[in-house]
Amino acid sequence: MLPLSDMGVEESSNIKAVLFDLDGTFVNNDELKGVAYSSLELIRERGLKAIAVTGRPAGWCDLIARWWPIDAVVGENGAFFFYKNKNKIIRKTFYDLEVQPINRTRLNLLFDKLLLSFPNIKVASDQSFRQWDLAIDIAEETKLSKKEILDIVNFAEHGGACTAISNIHVNIWFGDYNKEQMSLKVLEELGLNSKNIIYIGDSPNDSPMFECFESTVGVKSVMNYEGLIDTYPKYITKEDEGYGFVELIKFLISTR
Ligand SMILES: [Mg+2]
Repeated sequence: MLPLSDMGVEESSNIKAVLFDLDGTFVNNDELKGVAYSSLELIRERGLKAIAVTGRPAGWCDLIARWWPIDAVVGENGAFFFYKNKNKIIRKTFYDLEVQPINRTRLNLLFDKLLLSFPNIKVASDQSFRQWDLAIDIAEETKLSKKEILDIVNFAEHGGACTAISNIHVNIWFGDYNKEQMSLKVLEELGLNSKNIIYIGDSPNDSPMFECFESTVGVKSVMNYEGLIDTYPKYITKEDEGYGFVELIKFLISTR
């Protein structure tokens, strides 16, 4: 990984949209700092688009799409994207909504089996607001070891599910979708070229995004995931979490 300051003016000035992870990248340890939030307005004042890409639930993303100063949000690790067009929220899902109850039943059965092998695990506190996936809490209100996390992932994948490890949850779902595919779809919907975007994240579940896009940035704590992350970002910030996000936005603005 290179220091962010190594990014050239040409690469920076080609950026038309900032795609960003939320937990651990935009939000600091469960607290959204004002300076990070207001930098979204800076992005858009400069004519850039802002697109959140998160594992957080549909219920949260609905509020984000309605109220935040952003252009779109991809949620539940790529199950859908929402954006506002005039006053109307447009909701696009990877699968038709008829598939959702079938997947939910399969997830419930998988969770019952998981509980037999890992009786101490808890679903994430935001599970009620999810439509497409199951989130196991690993570091939000409980704390699991790296071994427990990997055992859960292996168990779920052996049961035919997809998984992603964030800094707080293991997300589990059935279906052939992911954050990078849905990000490409939202870019197409908004008329953006995938070569003209930058992505910033912090965790193993950002690894496919680091692989998919050319200009990628990790906040400082991306270095904490040795052995869990397949592809690292091209650049790394000096600051962590939301302050790393702000560092990127200031850098992009200063080089335009
Ligand atoms: Mg994260």
